[in-house]
Amino acid sequence: MNINENDIAKVVEAVLNEMNAKPSACAKPAKASNGSIPTKAKVAMLTKLGNFDIQEYPIPEIGDDDILVKVEGCGVCGTDAHEFKNDPFSLIPVVLGHEGTGEIIKMGKNVKKDSAGKPLNIGDKVVTCMIFNDDPDITMFDLNKQNVGSGDIYGLMPDDNIHLNGWFADYMIIRGGSTIFNVSDLDLDSRILIEPCAVLIHAVERAKTTGILRFNSRVVVQGCGPIGLICIAVLRTMGIENIVAVDGNEQRLEFAKRMGADNTVNFMNHKGVDALADAVKDAFGGYAADFAFQCTGSPVAHANIYKFIRSGGGLCELGFFINGGDATINPHFDLCSKEITLVGSWVYTLRDYATTFDFLKRAIAIGLPIKELITHRFSLEEMNEALETNLAQKGLKVVYINKD
Ligand SMILES: [Zn+2]
Repeated sequence: MNINENDIAKVVEAVLNEMNAKPSACAKPAKASNGSIPTKAKVAMLTKLGNFDIQEYPIPEIGDDDILVKVEGCGVCGTDAHEFKNDPFSLIPVVLGHEGTGEIIKMGKNVKKDSAGKPLNIGDKVVTCMIFNDDPDITMFDLNKQNVGSGDIYGLMPDDNIHLNGWFADYMIIRGGSTIFNVSDLDLDSRILIEPCAVLIHAVERAKTTGILRFNSRVVVQGCGPIGLICIAVLRTMGIENIVAVDGNEQRLEFAKRMGADNTVNFMNHKGVDALADAVKDAFGGYAADFAFQCTGSPVAHANIYKFIRSGGGLCELGFFINGGDATINPHFDLCSKEITLVGSWVYTLRDYATTFDFLKRAIAIGLPIKELITHRFSLEEMNEALETNLAQKGLKVVYINKD
């Protein structure tokens, strides 16, 4: 076939015309959000230690880069509980809640895509991660950036004149410059679990840097609160099967088995660390662990876990989100002579966040009872009770659900 230059010019012109026409052809029709954008929003404002007040504020006009979200739900995190009880970050007055999700009901005209490049539309279900103080492109894609230490998090920002700064509310304003993900393909419970799950995706990524974690590794997970249980689930979705869970609560250990632990050890049944280490060894059929994840906030638990690990093994410490005090180890016996490779893990990268969406789908697909982590649901008006429930360590994951 022979195409002359004239034809080529025509083809190029046609293609260019089509390309130029595309933006307007693809422009979003202004969708009516069933006509009911409210004028006021309710928030649970932490006004003093141990007390939320329900307050009402007018919903301000949003800017061209902003998004108005109707909150559907939000997990209650250990961090929220610390703030509620002690305000270690001096945030009061503050609207807490950072593990939230909701539906877009209004968008500024510049908003087109989420942080992963997926289109955003009214009606989409979203989660936020951070508001960046630095270049989000660099932070999103720079693998050297170990965790998100340089942005503000909704739910951990002191009150200002917008007020809608946290997910313990019925509406939230997501400002331009925030990280936002379209997760419309996940159900509400899964979406609420994204943030805590991202912590474990990051921890396992950190563990993998040691080169010790393999498919056939014997892995001990110490602590079976939500973090330890999710850790087991992440390992299972990776194909790691030889997992022993350690905790002092029989119910949690039962749950750990359903989440994929092969065997469990209740530390209440063993006096002293040597007896406990023997029990862990027995649970692996006579072997010490190749790798350990420390998921409690107890310094004693940190000191103990070295005894469970074989020479040349690895350890990921992720239990100390906040300062829990000093731990005493014997550097000779615990670290040097055994040549243990130790990594710490804290928070997550944005990449981990995006990986978490697929982890949740995989966990559900292989039948792990991940959504059963949510044991208590409260309304906005019941926020004080929700935090008390978390502090009393009743159940596993306590969440706020907007029932309106
Ligand atoms: Zn959290």
